[in-house]
Amino acid sequence: MNGIKKLMAGRYGSDQLSVFMLAASILLTLIGRIASLSWIIALSYVPLAIVVYRMFSKDIEKRRLENYKFAIILSPVYSKMHKFKNRLANSKTHKYFKCPDCNAQLRAPKGKSRIIVTCPKCSSKFEKRT
Ligand SMILES: [Zn+2]
Repeated sequence: MNGIKKLMAGRYGSDQLSVFMLAASILLTLIGRIASLSWIIALSYVPLAIVVYRMFSKDIEKRRLENYKFAIILSPVYSKMHKFKNRLANSKTHKYFKCPDCNAQLRAPKGKSRIIVTCPKCSSKFEKRT
């Protein structure tokens, strides 16, 4: 255990980008094995080599910046996943719908029968069954 600590001292280690690239490498390997395409298996070593290089890199600032850029690219995906997860969790208690005028995503509690909804974005009023 002390040997690993000594080896990784002053080195970058792993981050989200490393985990993503490792998953991509595993996925490429699986696809290559299933499709029996050796060039895809060979291609899967590229992200793996980059992961190893990044983990043992001593240029911590540069690796952090790479991970930051990766997070910026992926943030809309995470945001959509988070919204979907919330919607799924609240699907029993709330009804989701769009404003007919501005297409804003709205929600109202279920079981209130007919209600007048006022859109918080465009202030238009419309009737909705929940
Ligand atoms: Zn609206």
